[in-house]
Amino acid sequence: MRFAHGDRTDVGRGRPENEDSILVDPEDGLYAVADGMGGHRAGEVASATAIEALKAAFLGGQPVDAAVAAANAAVFAKAAEDAALRGMGTTLTAVALRDSTALLGHVGDSRAYLMRDGAVTQVTDDHSLVEQLVREGRLTPEEAQKHPQRAIITRALGIDANVEVDTYRVDLRAGDRILICSDGLTNMLSDETIAGTLRRHPDPQQAADTLVDMANQAGGDDNITVVILDALSDGGEAPAAEAAAPVAVVPEPALPPEEPEPAEGRRGGVLRSLLLWGLPIVAVVSIAFGAVGWYARRTYYVGLSADRVTLYKGVPGGLLGWQPTVDHETDLTAADLTEADRADLQNGHRFANRSDANKFVERLQQQHEALAGTTTTTTTTTFAGTAVPEAPPTTETTR
Ligand code: MG
Repeated sequence: MRFAHGDRTDVGRGRPENEDSILVDPEDGLYAVADGMGGHRAGEVASATAIEALKAAFLGGQPVDAAVAAANAAVFAKAAEDAALRGMGTTLTAVALRDSTALLGHVGDSRAYLMRDGAVTQVTDDHSLVEQLVREGRLTPEEAQKHPQRAIITRALGIDANVEVDTYRVDLRAGDRILICSDGLTNMLSDETIAGTLRRHPDPQQAADTLVDMANQAGGDDNITVVILDALSDGGEAPAAEAAAPVAVVPEPALPPEEPEPAEGRRGGVLRSLLLWGLPIVAVVSIAFGAVGWYARRTYYVGLSADRVTLYKGVPGGLLGWQPTVDHETDLTAADLTEADRADLQNGHRFANRSDANKFVERLQQQHEALAGTTTTTTTTTFAGTAVPEAPPTTETTR
């Protein structure tokens, strides 16, 4: 079996930078999409670091799931050693092709789809809050696609020293097509539109270009990345039509076989499944979600809001859907700052706690007064007496 591919990554129309990264390596049979997030350009660094580490580990002989775990370790280490990158994260969905098998490693909400005999199925499960709510029956897939918190992901690379990697194996047949993409595609286009486009364009590059163009036409709110892989018979073009066969997507490792229901009847079975499966899933999601939220909300930064120096709670640009909130505005404006400070605040100057952030504001205030030469009582500034003890970490799940 041989393969053809098409790919494209695009900044979209709603973001200043492209924080997605892409890997297309036909020689080694490795392809991946990573969607980074974090303040300033940290998202870009996170996704690029993940792709680089993935490739290095894979070429070093590691299987794709171990290579994704190595990518996690690389992003986590980089975030730990550089304060400006702290809190960055990325999704990663990788496909390794060998003979006629595709092995997938997956963390986050970048997706892989398989088209076989014209039918398109989603191979990967999103690690996102809305996907969890859909699985629990609390949202329909249509509601999930429009949900304001659809960007919140429950698993990402770079957040913890270890990460659980989902793996899948697809036994390919000639004519199969795999799509890997970031959420900038899937939030803009419905599954039906994506499937129709994949069917209409037999050329993989043309299909990739068309999908990106259509996502941009639909608004292009986010960065858009698409990789398309076509499995071809060694003889040449894929056969136009083949007898229909069931799609063989095998999640690995397989779940243990379901135990028979206990003799006492239904009630016992329902109760047990709730305890064994329901509780742990809810608990794990709540803890992961709460932990990210707690991190995103316990840090502070000082930035500019309509030219006014403002103290924010959170991470510039938000983290995994947790948007920063205004702690308070100060009396200082951008015009009161030196050029260097102004540039510094443009991107948000980050602090581990509120008191450090307040000290920084106090320094800006003193510097402004000194430069203006208006006062000698610089010890009684606006913020000297307003230090408030830090609030305990919160585990709220609403913004
Ligand atoms: Mg995205």
